[in-house]
Amino acid sequence: MTNSSPTRIVVIGSGPAGFYAAGHLLADSSGLIEVDMFERLPTPWGLVRSGVAPDHPKIKSVTRVYEKTAEHPRFRYFGNIELGSDVSRAELAERYHAIVYATGSLTDRPLGIPGEDLPGSWAATDFVGWYNAHPEYRDLEFDLSGERAVVIGNGNVALDVARMLMLSHSELSKTDTANHALDVLEHSSIREVVVVGRRGPAQAAFTNPELRELRDLEDVDVVVDPDELERALAVDDPNMSKTAERNVSTLREYAERPPTKDRRVVLRFLLSPVELHGDEQGVREVVLVRNELTADESGALRARATGEQEILPAQLVMRAIGYRGVPLPEVPFDEHRCVIPNERGRVIGQDGSHRPGEYVVGWIKRGPTGIIGTNKKDAQETVDAILEDLAADRLAEPSMPDPEDLERMLRERKPNLVTYAGWSQIDRHERTLGEPHGRPRVKLANIEEMLVIAASEHPDAGESADGDAADTAAQSTAAR
Ligand code: NAP
Repeated sequence: MTNSSPTRIVVIGSGPAGFYAAGHLLADSSGLIEVDMFERLPTPWGLVRSGVAPDHPKIKSVTRVYEKTAEHPRFRYFGNIELGSDVSRAELAERYHAIVYATGSLTDRPLGIPGEDLPGSWAATDFVGWYNAHPEYRDLEFDLSGERAVVIGNGNVALDVARMLMLSHSELSKTDTANHALDVLEHSSIREVVVVGRRGPAQAAFTNPELRELRDLEDVDVVVDPDELERALAVDDPNMSKTAERNVSTLREYAERPPTKDRRVVLRFLLSPVELHGDEQGVREVVLVRNELTADESGALRARATGEQEILPAQLVMRAIGYRGVPLPEVPFDEHRCVIPNERGRVIGQDGSHRPGEYVVGWIKRGPTGIIGTNKKDAQETVDAILEDLAADRLAEPSMPDPEDLERMLRERKPNLVTYAGWSQIDRHERTLGEPHGRPRVKLANIEEMLVIAASEHPDAGESADGDAADTAAQSTAAR
């Protein structure tokens, strides 16, 4: 490699981890790194768009940082391109010095209990994708005609789901909740959401601002049984964090308040679901077993079933027990941890050695933990490894490095490839639809509609069939 030839790097996935990696790479002082990013959806931002709850707009404003990266002259975005089906890993290896996998954790973890597949039993990730207008989840049909929902898990996703089920229409209608979800949630009959943790409040994974904001829900009590709370706190946790201390004091406040409203979020502890009862009509009951806390050899407190059971009638069950990574074609995968095996971001092959030129960032690197900002540091570690390998001449020269060739190949395979300009069209379109209603945007949930709007980036699209289709798409979205 000569000193002035560019280093070409492709990032697969456009969520926070992918964008932090791209940003760090472009900030390299050589000024010679070029980054292409592939995304299987037309739209970027990963879970910032399709995971963060609609009532958390401030968290979403992090995309301004990613927009700066996307506008960098040495960056290109190719949406609607999927690794494996549209382009293979081997083809990328011929065209780039390095590949960075940033595909996150695409699916949910199952509970593995009888009745889990009954109608009305869902992965929280389905509900989250649905209310956030992720195109793959938009056709799901949530029946909210029952009075009680049970959410399994004590993480932030469990609290997001509980809140989304309890937010009033007037609260939700100011957000970018998918139109299809707004309609269903407006007619929800759910009066009570029971959030069930298998361990105690000192071991809960949720963070304190999320726990505290439950009390801001309009006309909703937060109910904690004082006896159950103290029982769950009876065993001292040597690993109790500052967050857990704050959570305990918030929960004690909740436990002191007498309920006065007819809708509530109930926080329960030391309970695990062991079976869901119901029939083809749907879930009717959740069978819970009471747990006790016991220390394992490391001192960490684990839940152990006591055998004492409780039956909770419920018509909707959401398991919010974590996300799970899925394998990518031709890329090593650790089936146990559901991540791409790696050492400080360098992908490790089956023989235990580094796969030259392959790297990983974010949840598919370390598992589904941490907040958005966690990915910044995580991506820096991987980028440091890439730069180290580059300096040590460990990255092979690609045989077909021409960036224009790559774009031509992608356009031949996917004529409706979405560039950053195409995404900007979708972005403007969504914001324009939201404006008259005081909403940040009205999200498109249909890939065909997105592609039509994105295609209007082409100057000749205005008067063409595409232009007409764009009008039709706009009308059909606004009409909902
Ligand atoms: P999480 O934080 O890992 O929480 C998973 C919860 O599920 C834990 O309480 C865990 O309990 C429980 N669980 C696991 N297996 C279980 C089982 N078989 N039965 C019963 N309970 C089980 O996962 P998450 O809520 O999906 O969140 C993923 C990440 O995204 C987290 O880092 C989270 O903070 C982040 N996030 C942040 C926000 C925000 O900042 N507002 C919003 C959403 C998500 P144990 O502890 O006992 O294993």
